Amino acid sequence: MSKNFETSAIRINHSQSNQKEHSSALYLTSSFTFDSAEDARATFADEMEGNIYSRYANPNSTDLIQKLCEAEGTEDGIATASGMAAMFGSIAALLESGDHIIASRSLFGSTHQLLTRVFPKWGITSTYGDISDFENWGKLVQKNTKMLFIETPSNPGLEIIDLEKAGQFAKEHNLIFVVDNCFATPYLQQPAKWGADIVTHSATKYIDGQGRVLGGLILGKKEFIKDVQFFARHTGPAISPFNAWILSKSMETLAIRMDRHCDTALKVAKYFENNSSVGRVKYPFLPSHPSYNIAIKQMKLGGGILTLTLDGGLERAKKFLDHLNMISLTANLGDSRSIITHPASTTHSKLSEEEREKVGIVDGLVRVSVGLEHPDDIISDISQALEKSK
Ligand SMILES: *Cc1c(COP(=O)(O)O)cnc(C)c1O
Repeated sequence: MSKNFETSAIRINHSQSNQKEHSSALYLTSSFTFDSAEDARATFADEMEGNIYSRYANPNSTDLIQKLCEAEGTEDGIATASGMAAMFGSIAALLESGDHIIASRSLFGSTHQLLTRVFPKWGITSTYGDISDFENWGKLVQKNTKMLFIETPSNPGLEIIDLEKAGQFAKEHNLIFVVDNCFATPYLQQPAKWGADIVTHSATKYIDGQGRVLGGLILGKKEFIKDVQFFARHTGPAISPFNAWILSKSMETLAIRMDRHCDTALKVAKYFENNSSVGRVKYPFLPSHPSYNIAIKQMKLGGGILTLTLDGGLERAKKFLDHLNMISLTANLGDSRSIITHPASTTHSKLSEEEREKVGIVDGLVRVSVGLEHPDDIISDISQALEKSK
């Protein structure tokens, strides 16, 4: 198979049935048959290759996993019903009671809940590190620290962590290095190149790209994925074949969609950078981003998300959202439709004000997921809402 991203994302296909379909078939089946009792025994015993049951594997999920492994440069993986099942599974499968995690403080809201509310119930604890203080993360390492879990760019603060340095840090302290690569997608950034042992995804976002289905992935080195597969087979976070089929099809257009998302996002960011009623525009590929140099080193393009900090705080932000005509108010991101979210009152409302402040989620901050509409229409909708909310 070609090593070019666009080609393998289109041409890798797990199987073709004897109907010779050109577009991949959808395997809506819970289980698979065996030719003999002996084959059944041998398949269960891993002595023979073959599908058994869709909680274990299904041709459609295998298809999706193969495409993502090729894109990320990882050896193996599993596909899950949602991004959160992937975040949960990557930790639950690899750690045990008494273990400790170092995580970047800027994390997706539900991942934060996992680390602070769910895993402590089973004796897995964590400590947050601030990205601005990365040089000192060595101080956070305990005798029982087993994992480094980061998100870059982070949701919604767009903080960027130097993947090369994080990889070296994980290696030096013998930590399993996990990267949530949801915002960048493998088209823009491949954490495995920088030493990530595990790469997780919410496929719900850019991999679907059209706001239709939920899905997630855990990808990485075989030695770790073996344990993840065991965990998933017996706890059941499997993706539905239908969702895997949609997501595998979507991979065919990921590169071309990301090119446009990134191009338009940069245009929008540049346009509003000097607008008098926007306090601050943050976008990884604007030289004003505090980690611009790291972003351009490890990302192909700047991504489809930017944030605007509006003067006037919470009231202004709410008024601004209410005046949008075209752009959607919804919690998703990475859709062909542009979306604006107010993290402080929605996705990150479960964090305390102090926790939000530490990760830069001020009351006036809005997250813009730049869609595939014409850039002029996106700019004009934001402009008129800014004007009317003054
Ligand atoms: C959305 C998201 C998740 C969770 O994914 P779901 O598919 O919604 O479960 C995890 N991490 C990041 C960075 C996300 O944006």
